[in-house]
Amino acid sequence: QKATGEWQTLDARHHLHSFTDPTLIESEGSRIIVRAEGSTVWDNDGREILDCMAGLWCVNIGYGRRELSDAAAAQMALLPYYNNHFQSASPPMIELAARLAGLTPDTINHFAFANSGSEANDAIARLARQFWQLQGRVTKRTIISRTMAYHGSTVMGSALGGMPHMHAMDGGVSNEVVHIAHPHWYLYGEGLSRDEFGLKAARALEDKILELGAENVCAFIGEPVQGAGGVIDPPSTYWPEIQRICKQYDILLIADEVICGFGRTGSWFGSQTLGIQPDFMPMAKGLSSGYLPVAAVGIHDRVYNVLADGGHLAHGYTYSGHPVACAVALANIDIIENEGLVARVRDDIGPYFMAALDKLVDSSPIVGERRGIGMMAALQLVKNKDTRELPTLTDNASIFCRDYCYNEGLIVRAVGPSIVLSPPLIYTHAEVDQTVDILGRALDATAKKLGV
Ligand code: PLP
Repeated sequence: QKATGEWQTLDARHHLHSFTDPTLIESEGSRIIVRAEGSTVWDNDGREILDCMAGLWCVNIGYGRRELSDAAAAQMALLPYYNNHFQSASPPMIELAARLAGLTPDTINHFAFANSGSEANDAIARLARQFWQLQGRVTKRTIISRTMAYHGSTVMGSALGGMPHMHAMDGGVSNEVVHIAHPHWYLYGEGLSRDEFGLKAARALEDKILELGAENVCAFIGEPVQGAGGVIDPPSTYWPEIQRICKQYDILLIADEVICGFGRTGSWFGSQTLGIQPDFMPMAKGLSSGYLPVAAVGIHDRVYNVLADGGHLAHGYTYSGHPVACAVALANIDIIENEGLVARVRDDIGPYFMAALDKLVDSSPIVGERRGIGMMAALQLVKNKDTRELPTLTDNASIFCRDYCYNEGLIVRAVGPSIVLSPPLIYTHAEVDQTVDILGRALDATAKKLGV
C-alpha cells in the first residue's frame, strides 16, 4: 500500500494514460481506484463513489462477483492458456461460441474471438472485405460509418469511428472509410417529426452508396444506439430503413454491440431491441462484464459459408478464445441469465431510471433532452431550451457538471455538451435516486455557472 500522493507521483512519472491530458495528471494527479463492490468503487483514501458508468460501460453484473474470480482461478489451474490456431480448440471457447449462438439472432451461428472491441472491429474489416473478395467482387471495399461513431482505438477502429480528434491520430491511413451524419433528431431534426427525421437520416446512406457506387461499398457499420458519441438512440424508423438499403444494394450490415450487448438496452443485444438483422455483430465489454479482456464477432451464416469455402483463413490472435477469459465470460452470462438482468432492465430498473432522469428534464433549465434506452442514457445540456442553444467549449458546462458529481461521490461522463450515464444492470432503485439527487445538485450548480 502507498499513500495517494506516492501513487500519483509514480503514475505521472511512468504511465501514459488513455484519453487524458498528461498535464492534468501532472498538475492534479490521477484518481486512484483500489477496490469495488456492487456499483460502488473506493479510492485510495477510502472515499466511496457510485459508478454510474459501470467502468467504461462494461461492468454489467457489478463488481466483486466471486463466481467470476472462482471461474478464472479454476480455469487457470486446469488450462491457463491454449489457442485456436492450426485446428486447436479448448472447451471454454467452444462452449462460449455455442452459448452466444443461442443468444444472438437465429442467423448468427459462428463466432470469431478477439480481446477487445477495437480488435473485433479490425477483424470485421478484414473478414468483410474477404467475403466480397472471395466472390470476385474485389472493388467492394469501402465501409460507411457515421459521425460521432466510436468503434475503437486501433488504426482501423479509429478510422471507422466518426470522431475527428481520433482521425487526427489514424496514422494517415484512411482505410477506405467514409461517414454519414448520425441520427440525432433533437439537434438536427430541422422541424421534421422524429420518424420523418429517422427516414431522412437513414437515406443519407442510400445517397452515399449511390455516390460511391454500390460495387465499391463493402459494409455499413453502426452501433444500435451510439454510445460514446453521446447515447444517440435513433428514431424507430431509422434501422428498418438502413436494413432495407443494405439489402437493396447488397451491402453487409455490421451492428456494433460492444456497448449495447448483454442486456444494456433491455434485450440481450441492441439489434434485438431495435430490430436489426446484422451480418456481423462485434461484442466485448459486457461479454465478461469487463472482468477480463475478451471480445467476439458474431457472423451471419451466409457470410460464414463464403468464408469457410475460401479455405485457409489468415487471421487470428494469440489470445483468440483465451480459455480463462472464455470461462469468465460463461460465468458472467450465467449470472445475467440466472438473475434475470435482461428482463430487469426492460421491465423494472430501466424504466425507473429513465423516469427519474426525465424529472431532471422538467426541473432543470439547462437539460433540453433526455436520450437513451434501458440502462444507457444522456442528458443534453442547453443554455436555452427554446432555441436549443448549446453551451460552448469555453462554457465548459458538461465537464464542470461531471466534476461536481465526482466530488459528490458519483461517476458520470461528459460527452460534448451532454452528460452520459451507463450504470451496472444491478443498479438499485435507491442508487438511481442517489444518482438523480447528486445530478440535480450538479445541474443547479452548472446552471448558475452558465447564468441560466
Ligand atoms: N465499439 C464500441 C461501440 C465501443 O463503445 C468501444 C469502446 O468503447 C469499442 C468498439 C472499442 O472497444 P475496446 O475499447 O474494447 O477496444
